[in-house]
Amino acid sequence: MRIKPFVFKAIVCLSFIVELVKSDPDPLQDYCVADTKNTKNLFLNGVECINPDLAVASNFATSTLAKPGNTKNTFGFNVTATNVAVLPGVNTQGLTLARVDLAPGGLVPPHTHPRASEVTIVLKGALLVGFVDTSNRLFTQQLRAGDSFVFPKALIHFLFNMDTMKPALALSGLSSQNPGAQLTSLATFASKPPVPDEVLKKAFQINGVDLAKIRKNLGG
Ligand code: MN
Repeated sequence: MRIKPFVFKAIVCLSFIVELVKSDPDPLQDYCVADTKNTKNLFLNGVECINPDLAVASNFATSTLAKPGNTKNTFGFNVTATNVAVLPGVNTQGLTLARVDLAPGGLVPPHTHPRASEVTIVLKGALLVGFVDTSNRLFTQQLRAGDSFVFPKALIHFLFNMDTMKPALALSGLSSQNPGAQLTSLATFASKPPVPDEVLKKAFQINGVDLAKIRKNLGG
């Protein structure tokens, strides 16, 4: 049977998409401690590894998440995450651990991680969390200390400390060593260079005054 050109193109296209949405590649050896000091002339999907004979236990340990982050900012939150620079042993393991500090009334504003799903556990305080799926359906939940919640890969989500008196603390695991984070408000209104005014006015059905105000509020 001869495959029709359209079907062939669709298969090629689909396999390309499958390749693009795959999670981090599985490690091909026990570990690949990131060679963070090497001056790279070569770009890999991940970071080059040191000679395994040179690996030491401290490559797999970090105190990065020990200290609370500074939440004195517009939204009242701070995220501190592991990465290959502070935890070289995480290279190729497809993992990130993130400490999320929220001031009283603080918000991790709607954002996405293009390369990871996220599971979070509330360690202190209480949070209202939620995500919106691709049919614009909102899923929200109030979490207390000990409760966990999953944010599916790449979907827009938020974490809100509704308590105006007490701070909150959460810990998140993400399914990539480099999940990426894109805050929707900042990506839209505070990009550099800015998204053209006409695009935002039309997209959000606002006028120039509204636009200038939002940009100013967001430091754009
Ligand atoms: Mn997140």
